[in-house]
Amino acid sequence: MNFTYRSLPWNIVFGAGSVSHLPDELHKAGFSRALVLTTPEQRDQGEWLSNLLGDRAVGLFDQARMHVPVDTVHAAWKEARSARADCTVAFGGGSTTGLGKALMLEHDLPNVAVPTSYAGSEMTNIWGTTQDRKKRTGRSDAVVPKLTVYDPELTISLPVAFSAASGLNAMAQAAVNVATNSLNPIVALMAAEAVRALHEGLPSVVKAPDDIHARSLALYGACLAGASLGTGTTGLHHRLCHTLGGTLNTPHAQTHTVLLPHSIAFNAVAAASGTRRLAAALSTDNAAVELYEFAKRLSAPTSLQQIGVEEADLDEAARVATETPVANPEPVSTNRVRWLLDNAYNGRTPEIPPP
Ligand code: NAD
Repeated sequence: MNFTYRSLPWNIVFGAGSVSHLPDELHKAGFSRALVLTTPEQRDQGEWLSNLLGDRAVGLFDQARMHVPVDTVHAAWKEARSARADCTVAFGGGSTTGLGKALMLEHDLPNVAVPTSYAGSEMTNIWGTTQDRKKRTGRSDAVVPKLTVYDPELTISLPVAFSAASGLNAMAQAAVNVATNSLNPIVALMAAEAVRALHEGLPSVVKAPDDIHARSLALYGACLAGASLGTGTTGLHHRLCHTLGGTLNTPHAQTHTVLLPHSIAFNAVAAASGTRRLAAALSTDNAAVELYEFAKRLSAPTSLQQIGVEEADLDEAARVATETPVANPEPVSTNRVRWLLDNAYNGRTPEIPPP
């Protein structure tokens, strides 16, 4: 066996109620003046967190937005400087975490993450910003939060439909790192455990959204899924999600949800042993079909039509997705991607691609 593995500088506090330790944790980390970041939709929760931090909160910036627009980064930095903040606390989903990461990258302003969705961005070294409708992304260990406080109680307010989609977004990050033929044993351990925890936790989250045990399992799964995305690989699946998000502005988590079963079926022959491992983590014989049925059981979207894609967009999406080569177990071509997108558009049961 040959492999290399490099961890990221993670520093995690996990547990129901753990946000109450945030003031002490900031103190231990040497921070005394935090700018709280959140979205307009979570402003009330941001105020609640600022109150919890007391003197340690010096401002609340509630303009975090999807895809981290550069103008938003500038506006947040202005606010941080005028408040003489020595750190940010990113309180929210992947969009808010992304703003905290951009401020670390551009301005060396340390970030503490308090994730409230299952995006998992806080566990990765991947950053992204947008300007003039163009997204720039990269990897840098400098964007990994100095501390992440996971409190499952904060996810109870996540609406049920979005909990399912966000949880399946996490499932995708993990599943592609199990169903691969370039398996890294350490990444695969985290990824398989993420798949198991999400598979067990999400149905209970949907059935009883305030079940703290289910919320804990799902958030634990999301943490490990983010870790596997942060230290593992991506392939055709992520390329397709970014293409649809970038060209058609489809919602991030729901795009992952719809495409995942089809991406797994696409690689099922070329990455046969990895796909069998994924099936085992899902307690099934057919990983792709189980992921498709699982999304249905969670009442999550299973077709691109349901998330606003038009059939007329599929040719262009297939072309853009294959403009540059993508490392993927199964060979990729524009026609084969068009075939996959057609299945996903119509919400068909996922199939192994024709030769
Ligand atoms: P989001 O952060 O855009 O959140 C969606 C909405 O849900 C927002 O209005 C948010 O305020 C709200 N919300 C979040 N948690 C809530 C809660 N507990 N209660 C009530 N409302 C809540 O969506 P997301 O799916 O979490 O993140 C998606 C973004 O994250 C995308 O831009 C994606 O590119 C990025 N992302 C990045 C990485 C990475 O490694 N860099 C990984 C995953 C996702």
